[in-house]
Amino acid sequence: VIAAGQPDRTVKTTCAYCGVGCSFNAEMKGNDVVRMVPDMSGGANEGHSCVKGRFAWGYASHRDRVLAPMVREHITDEWREVSWDEAIVHAAERFRAIQDQHGRGAIGGISSSRCTNEEVYVVQKMVRAAFGNNNIDTCARVCHSPTGYGLKQTFGTSAGTQDFKSVAHADVIVVIGANPTDAHPVFASRMKRRLRQGAKLIVIDPRRIDLVRSPHIQAAFHLPLRPGTNVAVVNAMAHVIVTEGLVNEAFVAERCDTKSFAQWRDFIALPEHSPEATEAFSGVPADDVRRAARLYATADNSAIYYGLGVTEHSQGSTMVMGIANLAMAAGHIGREGTGVNPLRGQNNVQGACDMGSFPHELPGYRHIGDDAIRAQFEQAWHVALDAEPGLRIPNMLASATAGQFHGLFIHGEDIAQSDPDTKHVTDALRAMELVVVQDLFLNETAKYAHVFFPGTAFLEKDGTFTNAERRINRVRPVMPPRTGLSEWEIVCRLATAMGYPMEYRNAAEIMDEIASLTPTFAGVSFAHLDRVGSVQWPCTERTPLGTRIMHQDGFVRGKGRFLITEYVPTDEKSTRRFPLLLTTGRILSQYNVGTATRRTANTVWHPEDVLEMHPHDAEVRGIGEGDSVYIASRKGAITLHATVTDRVPPGIVYTTFHHPDSAANVITTEYSDWATNCPEYKVTAVEVRPGD
Ligand code: SF4
Repeated sequence: VIAAGQPDRTVKTTCAYCGVGCSFNAEMKGNDVVRMVPDMSGGANEGHSCVKGRFAWGYASHRDRVLAPMVREHITDEWREVSWDEAIVHAAERFRAIQDQHGRGAIGGISSSRCTNEEVYVVQKMVRAAFGNNNIDTCARVCHSPTGYGLKQTFGTSAGTQDFKSVAHADVIVVIGANPTDAHPVFASRMKRRLRQGAKLIVIDPRRIDLVRSPHIQAAFHLPLRPGTNVAVVNAMAHVIVTEGLVNEAFVAERCDTKSFAQWRDFIALPEHSPEATEAFSGVPADDVRRAARLYATADNSAIYYGLGVTEHSQGSTMVMGIANLAMAAGHIGREGTGVNPLRGQNNVQGACDMGSFPHELPGYRHIGDDAIRAQFEQAWHVALDAEPGLRIPNMLASATAGQFHGLFIHGEDIAQSDPDTKHVTDALRAMELVVVQDLFLNETAKYAHVFFPGTAFLEKDGTFTNAERRINRVRPVMPPRTGLSEWEIVCRLATAMGYPMEYRNAAEIMDEIASLTPTFAGVSFAHLDRVGSVQWPCTERTPLGTRIMHQDGFVRGKGRFLITEYVPTDEKSTRRFPLLLTTGRILSQYNVGTATRRTANTVWHPEDVLEMHPHDAEVRGIGEGDSVYIASRKGAITLHATVTDRVPPGIVYTTFHHPDSAANVITTEYSDWATNCPEYKVTAVEVRPGD
């Protein structure tokens, strides 16, 4: 796939790594890529790129890639290569047999935020129409599901409010639980440009991320909170805004539900929410919280950007609502340079959620229990749909362990490595009668699979990704599927083999169906995207060029709703036995569980996951730089090498999760967000001692 020499043609497509969604020109020689050149006209990147998108695409031709479908009876058997027809019929018959024996609800599916909107759409349609239940969930469950829930409750729509360009108008930038220079590098460059022009920066993160202090940038405030105290800190900032008369009264009166505001104001003004009351357990000096809150509230334009350090907590949804409360109280929403902006981890987290991958929501975030909405889909799909929401991923796994759930279709997600409490996940997979994995590689999850459908790399896909700013970008194939079938074709054939005929001539037809059933996508088609480049939804007849900034004249739900955000400490607490708190994150050169980047030259920059420890914590344990360390939690133990650094404060340790050997999720806990079950990856009580 990698060629030398002069290209003979160029195909414009979209990076398949992070939620920035950079556009690239794939310069081709025959069916081989010569190089990937960032596209100057790309709406998200305007000619910029990072080390992942520019260089880490060779995994598409890695020798580990599986190109033929495979089956096996037991997970201890050798894989047997078979034809597509045999693999699909085999999977369909076994899914059917499970349903005959255990009922319609005994099987389900997981869609992937790595795949195109069109692929995700057909997966959820297959589950609802062919499986006959709503047991469909997505890997967004374990990252940004609290964003979907929290923003819908407060603003009325499950999406970020701004486009990336808007940051150029921010006077104050607040970064909460995110590390943009590593995880969203091209957007981080835009942010840094604005900071170098004089915008002020507030970072709320236990770790001193690069943005806090980098060439020509110095954060005005770094609030190094103790993991798990997010809600207390955002409440304390809101307390300052309310009690010091900094509320934007005109905005609240005109744009917000004043009854909910009055209740919230009474709640947040209580002395227990003051910075002084929270300092002792959050670890953040009260004076810094006060001054940061004043800075945020009094600037002309303040914008909040947040990441998984907000969502992956037992109070992830509460924290998203707390951020929304803050933005509404200060009136920093609905115009350039403001807003509430989730930085999505994967390339198509936004799209996977938009496409109806949640067990309670059809495409466009419409509830499955709404009779009128369900009737619309039943008419279009010619099938009766179940009105009851289905199982979420954690519920499917728990039901499998309990012997009540028996078959799972897993599309492009390595749950055995990426989901928390690995033993719980692998026990559940082992308990199932049929696990079908559709992926590029025999990943950790495939060790527990009975059928393997080889998937396609982004270079072989035709469709769209939706990035963190709601931008729908075209993904164009630079070569035909090396496996012989597009991923949407595999899913359609499986649905058909199960008795529900699903046929499309091409991916464009799938998008046409999405547009016909999803009001926010009503104006989207491949032809339109090819004409205008990309659009940010809502894209309708009235807004054919999309919507850069949401909630400008009114919130999607009408009036913005304030919600009570009571701080409830997580059950995961440090103890004498486990005195340190572990938190996790990503590094620039690698991507998530590393399935793709580990199979490229990028791996030279980060060949292993390491444990960051404060010098004091290292010294008292007799641990030096590079030493092997043993890390134990209530759930298990792993071994890493130590990096001794004051980037982390005393009492906190930090690692990444890119390498299966280090298996960070062996030690993460079973706790999850109260509203969405998003796992609490960011807080694990551990003990660390010398590895020997
Ligand atoms: Fe790809 Fe994200 Fe890097 Fe852009 S910033 S090139 S989308 S990984």
